Amino acid sequence: MMNFNIAMIPGDGIGPEVVEQTVLVLEKVGEIYNHKFNFKEALAGGCAIDEYGEPLPKKTIDICKESDAVLLGAIGGPKWDNLPGDRRPERALLGLRKALGLYANIRPAILFDQLKEACPLKPEIIGDGLDICIVRELTGGIYFGEKGRKDTELGQAAFDVEIYSEEEVRRIAKTAFDIARKRNKIVTNVDKANVLESSRLWRSVVEEVATDYPDVTLNHMYVDNASMQLVRNPKQFDVVVTTNMFGDILSDEASMITGSIGMLPSASLGEGNIGMYEPVHGSAPDIAGLDKANPMATILSAAMMLRYSFGLEKEADAIEKAVKKVLDDGYRTMDIINEGKKAVGTKEMGRLIIEAL
Ligand code: ATP
Ligand code: MG
Repeated sequence: MMNFNIAMIPGDGIGPEVVEQTVLVLEKVGEIYNHKFNFKEALAGGCAIDEYGEPLPKKTIDICKESDAVLLGAIGGPKWDNLPGDRRPERALLGLRKALGLYANIRPAILFDQLKEACPLKPEIIGDGLDICIVRELTGGIYFGEKGRKDTELGQAAFDVEIYSEEEVRRIAKTAFDIARKRNKIVTNVDKANVLESSRLWRSVVEEVATDYPDVTLNHMYVDNASMQLVRNPKQFDVVVTTNMFGDILSDEASMITGSIGMLPSASLGEGNIGMYEPVHGSAPDIAGLDKANPMATILSAAMMLRYSFGLEKEADAIEKAVKKVLDDGYRTMDIINEGKKAVGTKEMGRLIIEAL
């Protein structure tokens, strides 16, 4: 019997609802395959502001650091939208990524066969489905560069500095090439090297890393073109590697071409084995507490946790197969519902996945 410690951060909005179902799924997997998953709950985001007056209490960081992996629901909501910058709920995410050294955000954008009708692109563009993996740098760039304001003749001015070091680029590029090796061996580097100095350094380091991966094809694309190509010809992409800012935007775009944000998992990885796993969607305050949220994105994030942090390949496969089985059987939460399908809520969806397991 193997033992794994999981820090569980339900967070805000629909976070607690989707995490609850995911924990039940993991417990079932543990039962079937004889593993023990120990969950330790921690607060972060808006609920932590309410309880402790700060979005990321030290206690939460400690619980995460003592765990093998972190499972996170979602953070933020309108209640906390007007707080000053450094006290906003989203600070908790940035802080956790920094504290755990999670510099790589892995977002697979998969169009499930069963959900092709939800894809806004034409059938001839999608062909036999889509499977793109976006690798976004997570702890550097404009999100963490110097910020400030100053008075000018034209009124207040504000600035945010985009800055990357060679080492920051090297490690994210390696992550992308390693993932590409296990997939279709194509890396598309996305930058804005025709305008930004930081992009010119970024591109040259990616090219240097590529020499260690002669079996992987490297392409470069400007971010404006990439955002267009994602809807014009998405099948050309396998692994996309890009900066924090461009990755934020492109992965939201990629998630929409797969039909629903409620289906997409993500992993944040760093140097060690500890990773943080969370759905791509946010806290969806409009449907919080209504048993309407799709728990599949979080459940699929747990599958990534088993695969990347615990090395439990067949257990991860089992979860993914169970999700597909439930889709095959025609069950849908409201975000992916269409004619002739059976509408279910969050809890029922979780129960069906456990049954399929
Ligand atoms: P954030 O700022 O945290 O990214 P957001 O407002 O950009 O949040 P989301 O919270 O991801 O966006 O949600 C956008 C909308 O998509 C929600 O209002 C909700 O209607 C829908 N949605 C998001 N996640 C889910 C889900 N798991 N199941 C069903 N619908 C969802
Ligand atoms: Mg958003």
